Amino acid sequence: MPPAWTNALLKAAGAVGLGAFIGWLYGYAAAGALVGALAVMAAHFNRLFRLERSLRTRSRIQVPEGTGIWPQVLARIDYLKQRAKKHKRRHHRTLKEIRASTNAMPDGGIVLNEASEITRYNAAAERLVGLRPRRDRGQRVDNLIRHPAFVSYLRDGDYSDSVSIPSPLHDDGWLTCRIVPYGEGQRLLLVRDVTEQARLARMRRDFVANASHELRSPLTVIGGYLEAMAEDTELPDSWHRPVSEMQRQAARMKDILDSLLELSRLESGSEARKDSRVDVAALLREAVAEFAPPEGGPDVQLRLSSRARLYGNPVEIRSIIVNLLSNAMRYTPAEGRVALGWESGSEGAALTVEDTGVGIAEQDIPRLTERFFRVNRGRSRDDGGVGLGLAIVKHALSRHDGVLEVESRPGVGSRFTCRFPPTRLARAATVELTREERGTDRSAAG
Ligand code: ADP
Repeated sequence: MPPAWTNALLKAAGAVGLGAFIGWLYGYAAAGALVGALAVMAAHFNRLFRLERSLRTRSRIQVPEGTGIWPQVLARIDYLKQRAKKHKRRHHRTLKEIRASTNAMPDGGIVLNEASEITRYNAAAERLVGLRPRRDRGQRVDNLIRHPAFVSYLRDGDYSDSVSIPSPLHDDGWLTCRIVPYGEGQRLLLVRDVTEQARLARMRRDFVANASHELRSPLTVIGGYLEAMAEDTELPDSWHRPVSEMQRQAARMKDILDSLLELSRLESGSEARKDSRVDVAALLREAVAEFAPPEGGPDVQLRLSSRARLYGNPVEIRSIIVNLLSNAMRYTPAEGRVALGWESGSEGAALTVEDTGVGIAEQDIPRLTERFFRVNRGRSRDDGGVGLGLAIVKHALSRHDGVLEVESRPGVGSRFTCRFPPTRLARAATVELTREERGTDRSAAG
């Protein structure tokens, strides 16, 4: 037994013994022992009472001198109390530092619970989104940020990307929102002010569009004079080649300007409207009839297995088809084959353009949709390639919520697949087409 306990027991026994002895002197030994025991109990109660009071009032515990049980218990409690106090102070300081650093962040951070309600946020979130402490804590975040793009981003649950929305506070402001899930059902919404980047992007777009527009008029005049020179019967023979080369280059410049203008137009608008039902199968037939040369080029097949119409812009869908088809024709030798397909199902629809042409090396595939990217610059230029076609395809597709997938093997061929989600389909079910409608070759397509 620890000495403190022995000491305490001895003291208690001593008090009872002393009480019994004094009682015995007066002829009441049992009563004396009881008084001694009561005195021991009273002393312990007194200690207990003082301990409870100092714990309750948070005052420092007075630890008496001595070797008994109470000094030991009190010293231990005092030590634990001081240690807890120190920890609390340290946690408090850390919390304050975290709060100060999150408040110093230029990006807004909003913590959302499972029900998308706001539980906490930093100072930047107040500034960027206009949150008010008393009013907005506990509110659903989509009651405060109501832009449809944000609402569907929050609802769809695919947070691999961010979403850009106009600022709810400033007319020209732009914000990007990104949700990062963590813990159990918790989500952190990060809000960044991208007004300046958006302004620069708009300036670049406007500059390219204005420059392209301004360059078209002088080019038309030059083209006109070149045409007149080419038709002039008195033109010296030595001029025929240079004039026709100049005409070719002027036409190429016009193609570049047209593509740049189309790209700026696609970039500046938001998503394509859904009020027009585009008959993709009909557009594919028309494109094949228009672009596939009757002979001397690769064989072109149509593989239509759906009648689904696409909600969107027919001019932009046609541009997608024409760009992909003209690439396939350009990069496929005359003895090769090109196939265009349109199919749909519960997962959405796919427009495919496949060829058995030169193919593309794996490392070049991710760069295909960059502006002016050409795998083989010299050769592509000779073929009339500008390097803007696939950039146009990508933008037109994203305006229709679609994505471009490219599979290719050098020397074997390429397949470009444009995938559209079911929400863009006017009739998503696959419909069996008649053999005549399906059309299997160029003559049927025409
Ligand atoms: P371009 O006007 O040069 O064809 P694009 O943006 O349409 O520009 O295409 C970019 C590059 O991708 C092309 O230069 C070409 O190298 C490659 N490419 C595109 N389509 C095909 C295809 N069907 N087969 C092989 N290479 C292709």
